Amino acid sequence: MKYPFPDNSGSYWLKDGMDPIYAPLNDDIEVDVVVVGAGIAGLTIAHVLKQTGRRVAVLERRTIAGGTTSGTTGKVTAQHGLAYGELVKQFGQESMQLYADVYMQAMQDIESLIETESIDCKWSQQDNYVYTTDADRIQQFKDEAEAAAKLGLPASFETDLQLPFEVQGAVKFADQARFNSYRYCQELAKRIDGDGSYVFEQSKAIGFKDSSPTKVTTEHGSVTAKHIVVATLVPTLPLIGRVSYGLFESPQTSYIVAGKTDSTLQGMYISPDKNHYSILPVQDGDARYMLIGGNGHLPGTKRSQPRLQKLAEYAAQWFNVKDVEYQWGAMDYTAYDKLPLIGKLYPWSKNMYTATGFKKWGLSTSMVAAIVLRDLLDGKSTPTSHLFRTHRVSAPLAIPKTIINTFKG
Ligand SMILES: Cc1cc2nc3c(=O)[nH]c(=O)nc-3n(C[C@H](O)[C@H](O)[C@H](O)COP(=O)(O)OP(=O)(O)OC[C@H]3O[C@@H](n4cnc5c(N)ncnc54)[C@H](O)[C@@H]3O)c2cc1C
Repeated sequence: MKYPFPDNSGSYWLKDGMDPIYAPLNDDIEVDVVVVGAGIAGLTIAHVLKQTGRRVAVLERRTIAGGTTSGTTGKVTAQHGLAYGELVKQFGQESMQLYADVYMQAMQDIESLIETESIDCKWSQQDNYVYTTDADRIQQFKDEAEAAAKLGLPASFETDLQLPFEVQGAVKFADQARFNSYRYCQELAKRIDGDGSYVFEQSKAIGFKDSSPTKVTTEHGSVTAKHIVVATLVPTLPLIGRVSYGLFESPQTSYIVAGKTDSTLQGMYISPDKNHYSILPVQDGDARYMLIGGNGHLPGTKRSQPRLQKLAEYAAQWFNVKDVEYQWGAMDYTAYDKLPLIGKLYPWSKNMYTATGFKKWGLSTSMVAAIVLRDLLDGKSTPTSHLFRTHRVSAPLAIPKTIINTFKG
C-alpha cells in the first residue's frame, strides 16, 4: 500500500467539503481589532474580543480553518504529553500553577461557549491518557501524575487501560474532550460576522502599519483598527517576524491516518514512546473511525509516504483498520522552552500582538491565547501574560537542549 503526499485536503475533518463562505475584503473599513488568520486561534480570539463589546474584523487569506486547524487530531485537553513534571523543574511551582489554572479555565470556557451557543461540533467528554509500554519509564509517569495532581489537575497514574497491547502505565486526565475543530470554527465565524464585526475569506494581509490607529492592507481593501492580532500559526508578516520567531520556536510536520474500525475503545491516547502514537476513536453516525497520528519531523527533512505507511500498519495491526480512507499532514510550532508565545508581536510593538508556539495543543491553547490577549488589550498585564510573553530569553536558551533531544530521536 502506498500513499500520495498528504495535505489537509485529505483530512477526515474536511470530508464534507471546504468552500469559502465569506466575501473577500473589497473596501476600507474601521473596527476596534483586526485579527489576521482564521484558524482556531484567530477565530477564538476574535469571538472573545467581540464578547467584550469590541468590533472585530478577521482576515483569512484562504478559507476558514483550512490550515493546521483542520489537520488536527481533535483532542481538547490540558494534558500536553509529559509536560508538568519537566516544566515545574524549569519554571517552578508557582509559574506552573498559573499554567494549570489558565488551561483549566480555557477548557471550561470552551465547554460553556459550546453549551451556551448550542454549537454542534461533536463535543464529547473523554478521559485522556499519556501511556508507555516501557517498564523503565514507569517512575517518570508516576512523577508526572503527582506533579499534575499537585497543581489541582484531574491527574492520576493508571495501569488498567483498554488498549489492545500491553501498557506499563499511563497518566490519566479525567474529563477532557474531543471535537470537530473545523465545525467549531465555522460556527464561531458565524457568531463573529455581523453587528459591526466581519469575517473575510480570500483576503491575504499584505501590509501592516503599527501606529495609533493601526492599519492592515489586503489586495483590495484595508482595515483600520486600534489593535492588530497576528494569528497566522507563525507570524509571517512583516517579514522580520518570520525570521525573528525562528529564535523562539521551531516547526514540525506530523501525519494522521483515519479509517473505519470495529474497536470499541473509548478515551484519547498518546505516547512519547518510539513506535507508539496518538490514538483517537471517533463515533461517526453508525460507523466508528480510528485516527492514528504521529511520526513528526522537521518540515522538508523526511519523506511522508513511509511515515503514513507506518501509521496505517499500526492502525491495521491494533485496531483492525482495513482501509485508510483519509490521510494528511499538518504543521505546528513549538517554542524551544515548551510554553506558548502570546503577547506583543515584538518588544517594541505599539499595538500589534500575536499567539503562536502551541506545541500541537492549539485547540485548548487558542482559548488560553484569547484570555491572555483580552487582558492585555484591556491594559492588564497579569502574571500569566508575563509567563507566556513572546520574547522571553528562556526560549532561545533552550535551543541546545532541543537540538540534543532531536538527535536522540
Ligand atoms: C498532526 C497534528 C495534530 C494535532 N492534534 C492536536 C490535538 O489533538 N489537540 C490540540 O489541541 N492541538 C492539536 N494540534 C495543534 C493544533 O491543530 C494547532 O495548534 C492549531 O490548529 C493552530 O491553530 P492556528 O489558528 O494558530 O493556526 P492555523 O489553523 O494554521 O490558522 C492560521 C491561519 O492564518 C492564515 N494566514 C496565514 N497568513 C495569512 C495572511 N498573511 N493573511 C491572512 N491569513 C493568513 C492561514 O491561511 C490559516 O488559515 C495538532 C497539530 C498537528 C500538526
